[in-house]
Amino acid sequence: MSLSHSAAWDQFLGLIKDSIGSQSFTTWFKPINPVKLEEQNLLVEVPNTFFSEWIEGHYSVLMDQALLQVLGKNAKLSYAVANGSGDEVIPIPSISGNQVGQSYQKSNLIERYTFENFVEGANNDFARAAAMAVSESPGKTTFNPFVVYGGVGLGKTHLLQAIGNLALREGRLKRVLYVDSQMFTIEFINSIQTNKTTEFSAIYRNVDLLIVDDIQFLINKERTQEEFFHTFNALYNSGKQIVLSSDRPPKELNGIEERLLSRFQWGLVTDIHPPDLETRIAILQQKADENGVDLSGDIIEYIATNVTSNIRELEGSLFRLLAYSSINSQDITFDVAKNVLKNLGLGKNRTIKIEEIQTLVSEHFDLPEDMLRAKTRKKEIAYARQIAMYLSKAMTKSSLKTIGLHFGGRDHSTVIHAIQTIEKESAKEVKTREDLDYLKRKVEMASV
Ligand code: ADP
Ligand code: MG
Repeated sequence: MSLSHSAAWDQFLGLIKDSIGSQSFTTWFKPINPVKLEEQNLLVEVPNTFFSEWIEGHYSVLMDQALLQVLGKNAKLSYAVANGSGDEVIPIPSISGNQVGQSYQKSNLIERYTFENFVEGANNDFARAAAMAVSESPGKTTFNPFVVYGGVGLGKTHLLQAIGNLALREGRLKRVLYVDSQMFTIEFINSIQTNKTTEFSAIYRNVDLLIVDDIQFLINKERTQEEFFHTFNALYNSGKQIVLSSDRPPKELNGIEERLLSRFQWGLVTDIHPPDLETRIAILQQKADENGVDLSGDIIEYIATNVTSNIRELEGSLFRLLAYSSINSQDITFDVAKNVLKNLGLGKNRTIKIEEIQTLVSEHFDLPEDMLRAKTRKKEIAYARQIAMYLSKAMTKSSLKTIGLHFGGRDHSTVIHAIQTIEKESAKEVKTREDLDYLKRKVEMASV
């Protein structure tokens, strides 16, 4: 039986469709096209690398199952990006890195996590510098173990992997092994069940650099902790480098034995914070560049201002925006960006304050802020004041009376008059429309 690439892809999609929401399906799978099927290798074309990364990151288990059903045991899915100029496609290197040689394959490292694409900011510069130092002389600095902690999505895994990638690339050592502590636990339990604990220990104790991500998952796992304790000692005593991450400071890891906790603090413990606005902008810019997407500065600023929690969310917002624009064949304009992100629930709990509007309006017209509250009727000042009142009504939930109070205790009929004046003016004056448009954006961006 031989299947055409499109028939195989259709069957594959049929299975995926039954298992995920229709919106996710439309967003992530619809835009993908099958290109060819060779043996059991199905090549598909994705709009950009975000797509393949996203679906690999979110649906890999599901996709593996579907692939198995459609194409059998050795089936493989590979991706290519349409290059826009016709039917030529550019293959994306597989993230499991199976062309990169043996040591790589066994390391569990993902090549794309590098120092080069790790954006430096005040939130991570110390951790980054220390990580570089560790990578340059593994096992030879006092940073052993090197422990990075911080909340989700702040770049811990990226940094840990970058250490391993750089050390291998520069040939500073031969054997690197990356695991998260759940993998370590599962493999250890398996080795007990299959009577292979000796082999298990040998693997982990014979590396030059051991990276264990998310050690908080060792909490309350006593036997695994004991095994890890011995692994740690063996490596440490022979001058090998140990790198760890945790979602909290090691001393707060209740449920991990004291003797391990004290060892975690023998070397260097450092943290990563959430990025500030400037760093978020730099990260978005970098992600856009990396993926060949041209986004204007105001869109980047808008996303960076509104997505503040962590870098994974930041990336996620960018992915969705790109997905939306490619599905709907729409260019990413500021308004498209705003709508897409709004539908994601962005900015739901934001409250805009009249004071913020006043600040931005006075900045825009280059006037002292208290002029908006003063009695003067000078033309430019009156205009700025009316604009500010108009925006206060349009963008806050404040009553006319409250707005009047914020503008030097004017009464509500003055506010109504201001709103009507601006409405009329914006119907006939381009300049007024431009002022309003610009200021609305500014206010929206400023209020998080
Ligand atoms: P954590 O392990 O702390 O939960 P990750 O390392 O998985 O976070 O980071 C989440 C995502 O954000 C990854 O795709 C990562 O590449 C990206 N990322 C995090 N920090 C940075 C940074 N400083 N520069 C560029 N990308 C980053
Ligand atoms: Mg992580």
